[in-house]
Amino acid sequence: MEGEPIRARPAWSVHPDEWRALLVERGMRAFRADQILQALYRDWIQSWDEATTLPKDLRADLAREFPLAVPKVLASERADDGTTKLLLGLADGNSVETVVIPAGTAKSSDGRPGRLTQCISSQVGCAMGCAFCASGAKGLVRSLASDEIVAQVMCAQHLFATPENKRQGSGLCLTNLVVMGMGEPFANYDETMRALKILNAGKGPNLGARHITLSTCGVVPGFKRLAAEGLQFELSVSLHAPNDELRSQLMPVNRRWPIDELLAACREYTRETGRVITFEYTLVKGLNDSRACAEELVRRLKTLPSCKVNLIPLSPVDHRPDLATPDEATQLAFLDVLMKARIQTMLRRSRGKDVAAACGQLRLRTVKQA
Ligand code: SAH
Repeated sequence: MEGEPIRARPAWSVHPDEWRALLVERGMRAFRADQILQALYRDWIQSWDEATTLPKDLRADLAREFPLAVPKVLASERADDGTTKLLLGLADGNSVETVVIPAGTAKSSDGRPGRLTQCISSQVGCAMGCAFCASGAKGLVRSLASDEIVAQVMCAQHLFATPENKRQGSGLCLTNLVVMGMGEPFANYDETMRALKILNAGKGPNLGARHITLSTCGVVPGFKRLAAEGLQFELSVSLHAPNDELRSQLMPVNRRWPIDELLAACREYTRETGRVITFEYTLVKGLNDSRACAEELVRRLKTLPSCKVNLIPLSPVDHRPDLATPDEATQLAFLDVLMKARIQTMLRRSRGKDVAAACGQLRLRTVKQA
């Protein structure tokens, strides 16, 4: 009896633990798995031709069975603070954004290496339509496959690995990963999670789970699924408003899962996992930045056993010129209310302003020019 024909599998969609079985299934030798993993995640090959430890025939077989689709760098912009935004072209002509953000560039004064955070996308465009977000301005085009999510990290590795990374056994140059680029990760749960598990795998890029953050606009079913994974990923929730009236104005998703339901899911998540959720709150002038909003936010968040808050001053977006950034005094006053209520809060500095680093802006501008 003939089975299903075995289809090609993008190499970056294969979890390190799956390689042996997949090779055997295709009549290849199981022991090659270790050499393949070495080539993919220690030598960071971008084409099987570069895997020179493997016989030529095998490289040709691998290229056919496990293609490596390296995205094209369509645009790259580097801000004065070192933040670099890349627009990556995918095989089907679509494009996604990713941003690489250094903090404490070379080494900090205590000799620890500086941080290098990458912000990756989970979808092309976004269906969520948050008012201030450029990614959703033109709706969802499609979700990314896991290999396209992993490929963003591979591109960063190719461009940013230092000689030192290479000396240290060709380790990953990134120290942190955030899924805060284009798209809603919980609306593309399976592929995003597959990608993150690959990036986290010890025999893969080996990026620690606690250094990987997912950010959701509040797609409630995702919380239960993530809790059930039993992984140590960090979770951020984009809240942006303390009441339903305001939140529904800014975030259409709130009509489907209003704040009470969202916070109940957060409470449950923290109870099940012991993990503290970080709430993101983008400050928009005259809309959600008042003292009354801050006080209402405190009342809401005090219903959780613990949480953190990131305040993000709005990055102005072309498609909503009516939305503005509050002045610094207003930002600080908002911060003060939360601090006084003993909520652990960070006021984010905007990074990479001069390269339009807010979600979706580079793609939107490039798509418009085309
Ligand atoms: N869909 C996910 C992840 C992508 S957005 C989510 O909503 O969380 C990542 C964060 O950037 C979110 O908190 C989002 O609201 C915020 N953001 C988007 N556009 C912004 C802008 N123009 N200025 C400030 N923050 C923005």
